[in-house]
This record gives sequence, structure tokens and C-alpha cells, in this order.
Amino acid sequence: MACFEVITRDSHSAARRGVLTTAHGVIQTPAFMPVGTAGAVKGITPEYLEASGAEIILANTYHLMLRPGVDVVQALGGLHRLMAWDRPILTDSGGYQVFSLGELTKIDDEGVEFASHIDGARVRLNAEIATEIQFRMGSDIIMCFDECTPLPAEPARLQRAADRTTEWAKRCKAVVSRRTSVVGDRQTADYRLPTTDYRLLFGIVQGGTELDLRRRCAEQIVDIGFDGYALGGLSVGEGHEEMVKTVRYTAPRLPADRPRYLMGVGMPADILAAVLAGVDMFDCVLPTRNGRNAFAFLPGGALRLRNSTHIDSTEPVQPGCDCYCCRHFTRGAIRHFFNCDEMLGPILLSIHNLRFYQRLMAEIRTHIERGDFSTWAIQELEKYAGTDKRP
Ligand SMILES: [Zn+2]
Repeated sequence: MACFEVITRDSHSAARRGVLTTAHGVIQTPAFMPVGTAGAVKGITPEYLEASGAEIILANTYHLMLRPGVDVVQALGGLHRLMAWDRPILTDSGGYQVFSLGELTKIDDEGVEFASHIDGARVRLNAEIATEIQFRMGSDIIMCFDECTPLPAEPARLQRAADRTTEWAKRCKAVVSRRTSVVGDRQTADYRLPTTDYRLLFGIVQGGTELDLRRRCAEQIVDIGFDGYALGGLSVGEGHEEMVKTVRYTAPRLPADRPRYLMGVGMPADILAAVLAGVDMFDCVLPTRNGRNAFAFLPGGALRLRNSTHIDSTEPVQPGCDCYCCRHFTRGAIRHFFNCDEMLGPILLSIHNLRFYQRLMAEIRTHIERGDFSTWAIQELEKYAGTDKRP
């Protein structure tokens, strides 16, 4: 069964409208995945996530493997049960966090060793362990273990990371092939979850902003063959223009009949530009992180709710928005909540921001279907020009 179907292609850009099928349901693409770092999208119940329009969420292997640990996740019935979310879940491989949060004590072609950012314990992670953990937690979309290099970086370092990512991708694929081909074998009972063993495995293309490296890594990852392909190592300090240039170059080198996922991106303008380049899936912590910092997304800009101009404002955060926050609360009330550290402030703005992102994705899908996506997207991009790209 093909897991991905392109329904409509935009005739003036590389944008496409598709449907991705997983064991826990279908996802309309282009899609945005809210991030549930430690098994929860911070402060947001699954009811509100559903109401936002989210069809898939992302959980972080790195955080869950350290706390509560994969054995506990399994004992609690798997990740879907733990999160009380019976729709698709994508798990990252932990690669990104290991290189950004953990204190690396050893890295070689075999894998990495790092000191946990929680208690300093030494932890080993490699292609086999990362894939196994994702499999055991019950992830619908498993990501290959990769080496993600913070930018700027020397080309030689980027090349080594891209080479390792390719070698590790082969090993990740071997684990998933073995697990899925022995379903039914009693010896694998530990790995059988209540739902199904149908899993998708996505390969990751690295290479920083070095286009030659991206091309070579893309060719090698595509040669191995995956259900979907991700662009990793972006939104790590390179800026909007460099990111867009790299995506425009790399996306067309990935198979047209597989989903393309731009990891960790981004601001609304980043998403619009990447959809124009043919990207189908996104994840980012910005809707919830910015919500917790009193920052609300608005069409073409943003609103800082701590600002004193909102003190007696009876306007909703975004007039016309159908989210719970905008239907029930005034800007003045939300400013007050933030002013006295009431937890409802961050919750309400996270609800609004998550809905804002899902509405943006729904608009993107509608315009691709109508055939006027590029004209619309370029107008939208102009609205965001000059606003903060990365607050
Ligand atoms: Zn709203």
C-alpha cells in the first residue's frame, strides 16, 4: 500500500496537496505537527489539540527515553495511551537533541554517548537503539537517527555528519525491516502493540547549507529507500534566506511520490516558502513556546500581550478567530493573567497559536486545490516581510 498520495499539484510552483496514511489515521498535507516534547503538548489537552485541527503530533524520543524511559512508556500502554491521543504520532530520533542538549562525551561512526541533561547519567544512543525505542513506544512515523550539526559549521564537519547520517539510515532501515517482517513471531511479542505494527520510516537528508553535500546526501538516502524524506539540520541558525535556498535546492531531489518533511520549521513565512518549494510536513515548538511567552501569532504579524496598550482592551486576540481563547477572552484579561503569572495566560495563547497554525495549513491546502496557491502565498509572504522571522 502506498502511504502517500498526491491529490493536486500547483501548476505555478512545486506545492502539492496530499494525503498520508498511517496506522492511526490519515493526515491531510501540507500538515503542521504540534510538538509534544515530553509526551504532552505543553499545557494543552488532546481535546484542544483536536479542536485546533491537528491530525498528527510529534513526540521527542530523547526526552522520553530519559524520562520516564521506554520501559515505563510501554508499561503505560505505549505512547498513544500515555498521551491520550489515538491519532498519528511521529517521533524524532533523538539525534537533534543529543547534539543540542546533551553533553556529548563520545561520538564515532557507531553512535554517540552523552551525559543526560537531567541527572548527568551516561547514555548511549545509536541507529539501532533510537529505532528500537521509537518502535517500542508505538510511533506511527519513525525517524532515522541522524547527526545534526549546528550552523555555521565547516564543510568537512558537515560532510562527516552527512556521511554518518547515511550509514546510520541503513542501520535504522534494517531494524524496522526486521521488526516488521517478524510480526507474529512469539519472540517479538514485546514489540507488538495494541494497535498495529504498520510503521512508516522516514530518512533524513543532512548537509547544512552546502548544496553539493545536500545533493549527495539526498541521492544516497533516496537510494536506500524510505516511506518519506526529511530535511534535517535547518532552522539551526542559518536564517530564512539560506534555509529557503537549501530547501528549494533539495526538495526537488526527493521522490515526487513520497512525503517531504522539513524538520523544526518554523515561522509562518518559512512554512509558506517551503510549501512553494514542495514540502508537505512541518513541526515547530513556536506556537506553544511563543504562547507561553505572551506572544500571539496574527495574520501578517504578531501581538505581544504583555504590552501595556492591551490593559483595557476588550478585543479578542485575533478578531474573527474561532479558537476557544478568542471566543471567550479579551486581550486585557489575557494581559492580566500574564501579569500575575496565572497559568491560564500561557494556555490560552497556546490554544490560539495552535489554531492559527492549523488555519494557515488549511488555507494553504484550499489554495492549492483551487489552483491559486502561488499568487496567494506570495501576497501572504509580503505581509510577513519585515516582521520578526524568529522571535
Ligand atoms: Zn484565536
